Amino acid sequence: MKALRLLEWKSEPVLTEVDEPVPGPGQVVVRIGGAGACHSDLHLMHDFEGGLLPWGPPFTLGHENAGWVHALGDGVTGLEVGQPVAVYGPWGCGACERCRLGIETLCENPAAAAVPMGGGGLGFDGGMAELMLVPAARQLLPLPEGLDPVSAAPLTDAGLTPYHAVRRSWSKLAPGTTAVVIGVGGLGHLAVQIVKATTAARVVAVDTRKDALTLATHCGADLAVASGPEAVAEIRAATGGRGADVVLDFVGADATLALGAGVVRPLGDLTIVGIAGGTLPVSFFSVPYEVSIQTTYWGSRPELVEVLDLGARGLVHPKITTFSLDEAADAYTQMQAGHLEGRAVVVPGR
Ligand code: NAD
Ligand code: ZN
Ligand code: ZN
Repeated sequence: MKALRLLEWKSEPVLTEVDEPVPGPGQVVVRIGGAGACHSDLHLMHDFEGGLLPWGPPFTLGHENAGWVHALGDGVTGLEVGQPVAVYGPWGCGACERCRLGIETLCENPAAAAVPMGGGGLGFDGGMAELMLVPAARQLLPLPEGLDPVSAAPLTDAGLTPYHAVRRSWSKLAPGTTAVVIGVGGLGHLAVQIVKATTAARVVAVDTRKDALTLATHCGADLAVASGPEAVAEIRAATGGRGADVVLDFVGADATLALGAGVVRPLGDLTIVGIAGGTLPVSFFSVPYEVSIQTTYWGSRPELVEVLDLGARGLVHPKITTFSLDEAADAYTQMQAGHLEGRAVVVPGR
């Protein structure tokens, strides 16, 4: 079968032929209906190098996946061939306390996982192929009625990651508050929708691209602000001088972290999701009093159940451009160039 693979660090992915996977005991092979292209894959291709992570190339890209059960390994119960499923992407050991709670992102025994600190498309063959081996049936969630694999795929990361970040700050998003979403791409456009669907906060969206700001407005943002030197003053003015209760940074560059620190209100949250590698000096007087600065990583399996529910009910609706497997590399080229709106999803059967 065809697969889009990263063959070494600091290289572009290549479409090659690989063997079809066969499920071992407890494993499942999924026929991919959709595999989202995440900006993290651009970081994998261009920024990462050997030694940074306990895994590396070669592997098939694609860590946000959904499709249909294709083949069941011995002993797998509760799933049927042909059933539509989403793949929960972060794979832990399955047995530690965090994994038993479904928080496999924070597995405490990663050496016992299929790939330590990784998953399908992250050190292990992912979904940019016709078929994908999922090493444990617990990583599959049946799709709720009303959700197809193409829409479900981005929800497993571009939806789940902002959902986890927003959920963590729910208590600070009461009526009368403001959330700022920086970077309205794959994750950010869903972040805007998730804040609107699950809280009563006002949403201010920030991006450098005009198209992204238009998308933010379509997604329900109350205000769309161009990223740049005026942004802090504009956001402060829009909040009566108070600033934002929660800032979600889906870029993570020096400039966006400085913007976040410039607009966050005392007692607020500044959450860094983007991994552009920027830094922010933190000391007692460098940020407003009692601001919490945090990173978040992906999300838990129970949270994915909640995100899929929001998707099935149309409360969160990814804006998707589809690409065939032959065009998959092009999805990344377009993302790099800033030409995509929302998420690119590779559809192998197209
Ligand atoms: P994307 O390319 O789809 O979107 C990024 C958006 O940020 C674009 O709209 C771009 O125009 C905008 N942007 C770039 N520079 C900006 C600036 N200075 N000010 C305002 N906006 C700016 O990317 P994505 O797939 O949504 O991923 C976003 C980031 O989140 C990436 O760094 C990715 O690696 C990271 N990520 C983190 C996690 C996690 O668990 N922490 C999970 C998934 C992705
Ligand atoms: Zn991702
Ligand atoms: Zn574990």
